[in-house]
Amino acid sequence: MPVTSRVNLLDLDPGALARYFEDTGERAYRATQIVKWVHQQGITALDSMTNLSRGLREQLARDTEFRLPEVVSLQESDDGTLKWLIRVDNGNCIETVFIPEAERGTLCVSSQVGCALNCSFCATAKQGFSRNLSTAEIIGQVWIAARYLGQTPKTHRHLTNIVLMGMGEPLLNFDNVVPAMRLMLDDNAYNLGRKRVTLSTAGLVPGIDRLREQCPVSLAVSLHAPLDDLRDELVPLNRTYPLSELLAACRRYVGDSPHDQITFEYVMLDGINDSVALARDLVRILRGIPAKVNLIPFNRIAGADYGPSPHATILKFREEIVKAGIVTTTRKTRGDDIDAACGQLVGRVNAKAARHRELASNTAGA
Ligand code: SAH
Repeated sequence: MPVTSRVNLLDLDPGALARYFEDTGERAYRATQIVKWVHQQGITALDSMTNLSRGLREQLARDTEFRLPEVVSLQESDDGTLKWLIRVDNGNCIETVFIPEAERGTLCVSSQVGCALNCSFCATAKQGFSRNLSTAEIIGQVWIAARYLGQTPKTHRHLTNIVLMGMGEPLLNFDNVVPAMRLMLDDNAYNLGRKRVTLSTAGLVPGIDRLREQCPVSLAVSLHAPLDDLRDELVPLNRTYPLSELLAACRRYVGDSPHDQITFEYVMLDGINDSVALARDLVRILRGIPAKVNLIPFNRIAGADYGPSPHATILKFREEIVKAGIVTTTRKTRGDDIDAACGQLVGRVNAKAARHRELASNTAGA
């Protein structure tokens, strides 16, 4: 997406759009009209927006634009999972995945180009970090998927849920992610209830608190280990926000709405974090938090030696948690034939961080 000086209307959530119109001397309800055209009807051609006056359409044509990221390719897995490769600027690409199930269809959206957190088992981490996605690039993924799914005749392909679980750490891109989520929730846009929009975080404590105050959607926490030593290794962010602080933030998050639950994700790594003793530790640390545990079979990635836990080990681990009365699901691996499964999203990242590392080692050798 080349940079221009025009306002990209896709960057604005309903509140910001209303302010934009007020600032330009228009009535605020224009915002609702635009949101409906663009996000409900999928129309971005100003000429088709028949309830806007000609003068206003001319003004918008001059000062604004609807700039969507560009679809490079769309792959379909044998199990129906779809994966878009989407170009966000010269050479940088992100991935978006749609997972159809009997009762729902979930879109997995990316929030950054690459990721800076360096979790040891995740393919996105190996790409390094390039930059935050704009609001337009985040909601653009939803727009693209909703249009495509709306055009396919298969009725089970219906977008009912969105998870911010693609590439990147959404809470490190808070200011662009929240407006995109507001559009996901908005009645005039995608109209998803806040239980149907889930943000997944590796555990950025201040971000969790801001989210609670500003946009309390469903929260998923990538836990992966119940002890600090082990979690420090798997999720280096734990060295900044250790478990005690992370779990306290989780308690605060559900404190305001006791009917909510937090989903704790736990990737099952053979011989690393999958013992029954650790399952007991997990039960212990989750005590008092309305929690659901989601066990994720590890998907092998290049550049990490981990292996997936055997099925029997996952069952034993699961049994220990279920015994304690905690709802525990095991995530089905979907779309792995097209590298669309958890942790496999790599897109195409011209990573500044990776380049810097390379530069540093080249200079050191010189
Ligand atoms: N940064 C956020 C959003 C990314 S979500 C977060 O960490 O939650 C991606 C999910 O897939 C996380 O739960 C992550 O831990 C998991 N994941 C990463 N790599 C994986 C792999 N190789 N196999 C299975 N799950 C993985």
